[in-house]
Amino acid sequence: MTDSNIWLANDLVPIEEAFAIIGADVWPHGKNYCPWGEVTHYDGGQEKALRVYADSNSAWCFDENRRFRPVDVLMREFDIDAETAALRLLEHIGYVAPDYESRWDAIAEAEEVVDANALTEALRLACKRMTNDWDNKQFDDIIARKFQQCLSLLSKVKTSADSDQWLAVTKQAMKTVLTMT
Ligand SMILES: [Zn+2]
Repeated sequence: MTDSNIWLANDLVPIEEAFAIIGADVWPHGKNYCPWGEVTHYDGGQEKALRVYADSNSAWCFDENRRFRPVDVLMREFDIDAETAALRLLEHIGYVAPDYESRWDAIAEAEEVVDANALTEALRLACKRMTNDWDNKQFDDIIARKFQQCLSLLSKVKTSADSDQWLAVTKQAMKTVLTMT
């Protein structure tokens, strides 16, 4: 087993979405109230101590000197483990976890060959099917950035189970930005 759910969730689910899941309205740039400030800060959360960094998809609480990635946000709020938090985040962006049986089939597949070019093409093809204007839209800043971000994760894909999962999650991530723009 790999920890692919965790890095996929941390890199592909926007940090502000993670805060939205726990009911905290967080502005993606600049200062925010820390959702746990009332309980954990000396000043009871009066100060806007939480800063969100869209570039690294993370947040930093200056009062607690603590960094949060999307998985950390859910772990802390719901007191759950990283794997559970990651799955919940991925499901939030539309990813459907394979059932136990098909997971087992994937693991049991002896051949562990990862073809990064084929995966890139598969994602590109999926994007083309999601919009009738991919030829132009692919150059849009937000879309191009998300697509590059998906590709940069390919270096972490090591097994055929990872490949299936990478494709399922990145498709969802691209679908989200394509319907936004
Ligand atoms: Zn805090």
